[in-house]
Amino acid sequence: MADVELRSITKNWGDKAAVDAISFKAASGSFVALLGPSGCGKSTTLRLIAGLDSPSAGSILIGGRDVTALPPAERGTAMVFQSYALFPHLSVAENIIFGLKVRKVATAELKERLAKTATLLGLTALLDRKPSQLSGGQQQRVALGRAIIAEAPVCLMDEPLSNLDAQLRVEMRREIRELQQRLGITMLYVTHDQLEAMTMADQVVLMRDGHIEQDAAPDALYESPRTTFAARFIGTPPMNVISLSKLGIEDHVLVPHAPKGQEHERLALGIRPELIRLSTSGIPATVTAVEFLGADSLVEASLSGERVLIRVPGKIRLSRGAAIHLTWDVATTHWFDLASGNRLA
Ligand code: ADP
Ligand code: MG
Repeated sequence: MADVELRSITKNWGDKAAVDAISFKAASGSFVALLGPSGCGKSTTLRLIAGLDSPSAGSILIGGRDVTALPPAERGTAMVFQSYALFPHLSVAENIIFGLKVRKVATAELKERLAKTATLLGLTALLDRKPSQLSGGQQQRVALGRAIIAEAPVCLMDEPLSNLDAQLRVEMRREIRELQQRLGITMLYVTHDQLEAMTMADQVVLMRDGHIEQDAAPDALYESPRTTFAARFIGTPPMNVISLSKLGIEDHVLVPHAPKGQEHERLALGIRPELIRLSTSGIPATVTAVEFLGADSLVEASLSGERVLIRVPGKIRLSRGAAIHLTWDVATTHWFDLASGNRLA
């Protein structure tokens, strides 16, 4: 098995850095999600690890070995692309063993590994079909099979589930996670979907504009976001981030809990929608919209002109314009510097 380490990796396209001096480490056998909005540098990072592109600066280590100058085939990585990239004229079996054939693996071993992989992925009955005769989920499994049969210690996946419908995505999420754990592979998994990252990964590397915003376990990312960007990217609906002075609650119960030695005009408070309660007293707000989601309802309210989202259990009967009061456990308030967005202790 192998850990993966990036040391101050930069990739420039012309005079713009797609990734700018990023460093992180994926422990051997762990599942690491590279998460972030479109264009933040996730695919670039993955392609650099695979060796499909070379970095402008920095080094990449796999299993302690510097692979920065090595071609893809010598890095011990397998890659699954968003587009599956299956050969349409080859059968499922031929697609899966293609890479092994190129490397001239002996026929007996090839057959054995194919049978094992097909069993693992439930593809045994489909081996003679062409990709066009498969459903999206089955095609996805063939693409996984091609990566798994390589028995590479490191697997790289770039948004592998984005072409699947919502329900199948949930199933495949679990399948990929189980497979990764069973085989003990080190997984680097690119996604823009925070739910996917939070449910699958041991470690989430949250990226923004070519740099790493936060590198942490999913629960730590949710509980202690380092910036307002991280706070709002993780969780649905996103955390409410409100400037303290706009609230006009200088004498409110929150103020004694604000970080000491900071001017109130420079503070923003963060509170998760699921932690706010509607109450008979507390901070006054006005309902602007209500959405019923099934298990819970989402109330949008205006708090001195600032938009606040509140998630309450069950179905709530409130109409637009209704006066409400908001409370929450002050200990669950996050504090940020308004200008920089950085978390305050
Ligand atoms: P993500 O996968 O997070 O959506 P990418 O890594 O694909 O983002 O892209 C990061 C940035 O690098 C984007 O601004 C993108 O336009 C740029 N970029 C990616 N590949 C190339 C390329 N081959 N040539 C020029 N710019 C590129
Ligand atoms: Mg991408």
